[in-house]
Amino acid sequence: MSLIDGRAIAAAIGEDVTARAAALKTADLNTSASAVVVPTLAVVVPTSDEAALWYVRSIGRAASRTGVDCRVLHLSEPSEIELRTTLRDLSADDTVHGVICQTPLPAGLSLSEVGGDIDPAKDVDGASPVSLGRLAAGRPAFAPATAAAVLEILRREQIPLTGTRAVVVGRSTVVGKPVALLLLAENATVTVCHSRTADLAEICSGADVLVAAAGRAGLIGADFVKPGAVVIDVGTNPTSDGGLVGDVDASAVVGKAARLTPVPGGVGPVTTMLLLRHVVTAAEAAT
Ligand code: NAP
Repeated sequence: MSLIDGRAIAAAIGEDVTARAAALKTADLNTSASAVVVPTLAVVVPTSDEAALWYVRSIGRAASRTGVDCRVLHLSEPSEIELRTTLRDLSADDTVHGVICQTPLPAGLSLSEVGGDIDPAKDVDGASPVSLGRLAAGRPAFAPATAAAVLEILRREQIPLTGTRAVVVGRSTVVGKPVALLLLAENATVTVCHSRTADLAEICSGADVLVAAAGRAGLIGADFVKPGAVVIDVGTNPTSDGGLVGDVDASAVVGKAARLTPVPGGVGPVTTMLLLRHVVTAAEAAT
């Protein structure tokens, strides 16, 4: 089995993002200085959750490396109206090209609800139901960055998808469902599993491509993996010693899977970089 190097893939994407961000900043210098565009991401943070704050800081670091401006707005326990108004205002701000809302949200609010306040043209993490609907309809839309990262990894690693059996474990609107839609668009035959799925191991063991996005450490053991399968581990589960593990028991599947994304260093870095690529794409479309 060989590990897929997510950091190397992220670095390659980062080069493209950096070049495109630089081009936006210089393209119109000869004609009008006011036409210079700085691709800008606004990150609304309605939480003090440590893992969420860590992720936001990592977005900021990657943004500064690539030339994307990252504006972070911390909201302390916002009301629904305050949060939704903030997302709408940012959507209306011409200097902002991408808007994301970090989870977890205050109790009683859901991302699929408040995400509807983000303009689909700036919905760089596919949070709006409009974006998911467009994805389902095969129309242009920003897929959630994590789902896009799964497909980007498969494409860059030249894993064939047409005619293959793909199994996705997890059906959330931010990962499982959009991953399934994107795999379907690549002509895989897709099965989506969840916590009520019967015979999970048996279904997974028929997969040529297995995507684990359940958020359950070590759920995917050797009996879940078909010999020679490609396994993409989206799960990020904190450990008691401050580390991070995926949904896949890597030591158990090592003799069966052909390829595996590690945690950390697999899907995560690619996700962050694709978010920034979406911001640059949105900025290019707005100019
Ligand atoms: P989520 O909203 O909690 O959804 C988890 C999904 O997994 C649900 O559909 C759930 O089924 C299913 N599930 C839970 N336990 C299961 C089990 N024992 N067997 C089968 N299915 C099970 O989580 P999420 O937001 O989709 O995230 C999933 C994982 O990806 C988490 O670990 C998260 O931290 C990670 N993640 C990573 C990145 C990255 O960049 N690497 C980004 C986003 C998320 P039900 O629908 O029946 O409840």
